[in-house]
Amino acid sequence: MIGFTGGDNQGIIGLEVKYEEYLKGVNGKILTTTDARGIELNGVAEDRIEPVAGKTLQISMDYNVQEYVQQEAEKVMEQKQADGVSILLMNPQNGEILAMVNVPEFNLNDPFKLIGVEETEAAALSAEEKQNLLNQMWRNRCINDTYEPGSTFKIITASACLEEGVVSVTDQFSCPGYKIVEDRKIRCHKVGGHGAETFVQGVQNSCNPVFMEIGLRLGAERFCDYFGQFGLLSLTGVDLPGEAGTIMHKREDIGLVELATMTFGQSFQITHVRMAATVSALINGGRQITPHLGVRILDKDGNETYKFKYKEKSGIISEETSATMRTILESVVSEGSGKNAYIEGYRIGGKTATSQTLPRSANKYISSFIGFAPADDPQILGMVIIYNPQGVYYGGAIAAPIMREIFENILPYLGFSKDPQLKREEK
Ligand SMILES: [Zn+2]
Repeated sequence: MIGFTGGDNQGIIGLEVKYEEYLKGVNGKILTTTDARGIELNGVAEDRIEPVAGKTLQISMDYNVQEYVQQEAEKVMEQKQADGVSILLMNPQNGEILAMVNVPEFNLNDPFKLIGVEETEAAALSAEEKQNLLNQMWRNRCINDTYEPGSTFKIITASACLEEGVVSVTDQFSCPGYKIVEDRKIRCHKVGGHGAETFVQGVQNSCNPVFMEIGLRLGAERFCDYFGQFGLLSLTGVDLPGEAGTIMHKREDIGLVELATMTFGQSFQITHVRMAATVSALINGGRQITPHLGVRILDKDGNETYKFKYKEKSGIISEETSATMRTILESVVSEGSGKNAYIEGYRIGGKTATSQTLPRSANKYISSFIGFAPADDPQILGMVIIYNPQGVYYGGAIAAPIMREIFENILPYLGFSKDPQLKREEK
């Protein structure tokens, strides 16, 4: 996120690149007078142009939250013997990023040292090989890489279908464990099926047939329209270099099978930051925000000389649908598949996901959870993504508890106190 500078103090990655013009300052100069051979002449006054120090960039990252989240990410990576863990925390109302962590992480003070590579191995690499490995190590997975979101994407499908009126919260469904779409039998994660369920229960159960059904009601054309309207085909504009774009089917190639798989977050890829920004808009009343770190520029005395402004766009979804989504997603945590993120005394909303990476035959998974709090007026949104965990790999089982631990610790720190009246209803 912060990045580092090279031999001439030029920004190489991260904020150091993005805000180079503010940070770099101006070199000073000493002008002397010489003769034709370049020998300095004594007794001629020299001119000095004093150097100007770079300005200070104030960012939204909270040092304590970032450090705590980093520890949590390292802990779960170790426990689950995972390939990596990414965690992103932001304010869904204005897009300010509080923490962004990708482990394993290189040492910012020693950015040319390859992690996980022995000194002797590193010495044997060609310059090109070493540079490729460094570039790989420097990637910010939240921004530079895409993933198949899986079931957290059901937040987006549900919002589009509620907004368009093709489903209501009380609609009844029946899940036999699969749905036939054209010549394909597409399975629910629950082999025996969820049986009879309302739409809300379908979201709580993360039932694939319910989402295929409502997606087919919406149709490919309107599904794609919402995909665009929710910003999913555009970059978020986050103030970090190298944001990756969405990888999506061409509109004319989306048949019923593609549509059905897209409803539950498969067969396309987006970045974590894109996902976080769109979900923020869907729960904040329908305002598309720009995720960012840069807040203001300060001079050497600490006075503000510039305040950054970021693009917002309201009305991507109605206030009413947004409020319905907050309520449904709170119920996912209080009584559904997200219950491992529940904290007594707080209102938490969220959604789990478990997606298989390509090729499917490798049996590698990404477990994730998107959560937000307080559910009725979201001020903090978090994403936890665990790459290739060993053993239990379900998002609800391993990513949701990490989100709970983070919320439990940072919510009081950020000034949100527990409400002793809030208790889960006994069932
Ligand atoms: Zn089901």
